[in-house]
Amino acid sequence: MNKSVSGCSRVGTLVVGAGIVGTAIAEQLQSRGHSVLLVDREAPGRGCSFGNAGHFATDVVLPLANMQTILSLPKILRDPLGPLSIRWSYLPKILPWLMRFALAALPHNARASCNSLRALNGRSIESYDRLLTRTGLSELMTKNGALTIYESESSIAANANTVELLRSFGVEIELMSGDQLREMEPDLGQQVAGGLFFPKTAHSINPYRLVAELAGAFQSQGGAFLQGEVCQLVAVEGGGGKVILQDGRQIEADRVIVATGAWSKSLAAQLGYKVPLDTERGYHLMLPQSNCAISRPMVSFERSFVMTPMEEGLRLAGTVELAGLDAPPNYQRADVLYQHAAALLPNVSREGATRWMGFRPSLPDSLPVIGPAPNHKEIYFAFGHQHLGLTQAAITAELLADLVEGKTPELDVNPYAISRFGWL
Ligand SMILES: Cc1cc2nc3c(=O)[nH]c(=O)nc-3n(C[C@H](O)[C@H](O)[C@H](O)COP(=O)(O)OP(=O)(O)OC[C@H]3O[C@@H](n4cnc5c(N)ncnc54)[C@H](O)[C@@H]3O)c2cc1C
Repeated sequence: MNKSVSGCSRVGTLVVGAGIVGTAIAEQLQSRGHSVLLVDREAPGRGCSFGNAGHFATDVVLPLANMQTILSLPKILRDPLGPLSIRWSYLPKILPWLMRFALAALPHNARASCNSLRALNGRSIESYDRLLTRTGLSELMTKNGALTIYESESSIAANANTVELLRSFGVEIELMSGDQLREMEPDLGQQVAGGLFFPKTAHSINPYRLVAELAGAFQSQGGAFLQGEVCQLVAVEGGGGKVILQDGRQIEADRVIVATGAWSKSLAAQLGYKVPLDTERGYHLMLPQSNCAISRPMVSFERSFVMTPMEEGLRLAGTVELAGLDAPPNYQRADVLYQHAAALLPNVSREGATRWMGFRPSLPDSLPVIGPAPNHKEIYFAFGHQHLGLTQAAITAELLADLVEGKTPELDVNPYAISRFGWL
């Protein structure tokens, strides 16, 4: 493969998008002997994968699109800084997505999404074990489990059915009293009434470093990285495609994989595939001197946000804002996370805090697209991992590499096919 790409070059496999998903795919294929060029308009890991909560959330098998979410919408939307908000000017644009979301929430559709999420999440940690062992990056995944914490007995009761449902899906859960939680995590305050311990989940101490070092491992295996923005993707007769970068450079590839996260809609559309991809924007507040020493991610049941201990401090992350790719951030949504954390961790400090917003790539049925472009030989898609892109990246990479190589993947990939949306 030509590594110093200039003018029109030809490569074997071209992966567009160096977030956690694209980088994991590039590394997976390179490690299997393919010759791979990874392209991103920024350095690897500067998109949504930069600032997530770092939770390998294998327990999250209930799709966001469910009747509970729909029924709670009127109450949630009343608070502009609450866990979910819509920029009302964006409502007309996102209405079709919301209608599909409502359809996906119908019980039989939600059950189908749930089964497909379980299939991916159930293989997540094992596939990361393989990936991180191969690349020497195991220190970036900590297997300490995770907690969900409640602040009232009524919340414990309200979530009891969901706990049983999750258990029936094979999710391991231990019920904890407030005192047991404080024994486990001494910085938790008296406000905490009880919780759930998920022993089989894990977290990353630095999701950005995970992508950056994965990209480094990929390059040390012989893979190439090129910084440039793909403006045009055209299919090439006989298979593969050609991309045109913003600066005019052209690259022809025997095989193209589109993994551009929340920005994938327009590239797919250039080939004629209309996907209802939108973004659920999320925020984080990073506390470098938090004055707290928790040892695993903690999800607040009532406040819908996550606190994760990372090597650079305590990360408070979450919230969903439906406002598209172009509206400016509303960093009040990040700031409010501190107030929530202070209610749970009485000693927490926000000294030196930094704020961030990222674009979750979300499809209305809470499932990603993983698989071939049905009408174009040797073009593949891997995007739309919504709240679970970190969790599902390694298994996505293995599945996609199997499809590329004509092997039967270890699970049924039909639920993730782009054709589920129709495009004609
Ligand atoms: C606040 C928050 C918390 C989260 N917490 C978690 C969590 O705890 N666990 C979890 O599993 N997931 C979590 N997520 C979701 C997770 O971060 C995403 O699902 C994941 O990062 C998506 O990865 P990606 O590679 O698809 O996209 P991205 O990381 O966004 O990568 C896409 C890349 O494509 C590039 N790109 C786009 N268009 C072009 C173009 N035309 N040409 C060249 N390059 C292009 C971008 O520059 C970018 O680098 C969270 C998200 C948010 C916002």
